[in-house]
Amino acid sequence: MTVRVYIGLGSNLEDPVAQVLEAVEELQMIPDSILVARSGLYGGKPMGPADQPDYVNAVVSMDTLLSAEDFLAALTRIEDLQGRERGGEKWGPRIIDLDLLLYGKAKINTPDLTVPHPGIRERDFVIIPLAELAGDLNVPGQGRLTALINKCENHSLKKLVTA
Ligand code: ATP
Ligand code: CA
Ligand code: CA
Ligand code: CA
Repeated sequence: MTVRVYIGLGSNLEDPVAQVLEAVEELQMIPDSILVARSGLYGGKPMGPADQPDYVNAVVSMDTLLSAEDFLAALTRIEDLQGRERGGEKWGPRIIDLDLLLYGKAKINTPDLTVPHPGIRERDFVIIPLAELAGDLNVPGQGRLTALINKCENHSLKKLVTA
């Protein structure tokens, strides 16, 4: 049985729109998985350190036969492929960031993986593109997307590219 997963994409270095679109191409190469849909691409102000370029964010949905751990490993591999550097400051600038937002209805809490991603509820740049793909989805432990949208501060999100 396949599991519906949602991936949050972000970039603010080296042509972020191109980096996000390249990652979408790479996501389609993950074994035993198919791409279902991509949201529009959104531009917004950085979270965390303010002295860095604006971000481009999107969400992709996929169906996969992989375990959550194997799927995360595939995401990390794509980040490495695109030249992601690690070990900088928390929430600092990055070529590509791929977060596993949701893995079906699963709740996972291991040292390397927390699902649903704990940041969903406070991030307009995740909730809004996620709602494009998933409507009024229930985020286990956080609530329905429509309620999250109403509660979430809208910082500066602008749609750059339509789905
Ligand atoms: P945030 O997770 O708050 O968005 P970030 O994306 O900047 O911050 P990273 O430096 O990319 O954080 O990742 C740090 C670690 O987060 C990774 O090594 C990974 O093991 C762990 N992690 C835990 N849960 C998840 C998840 N759902 N998706 C991606 N990484 C996760
Ligand atoms: Ca590249
Ligand atoms: Ca992230
Ligand atoms: Ca990440």
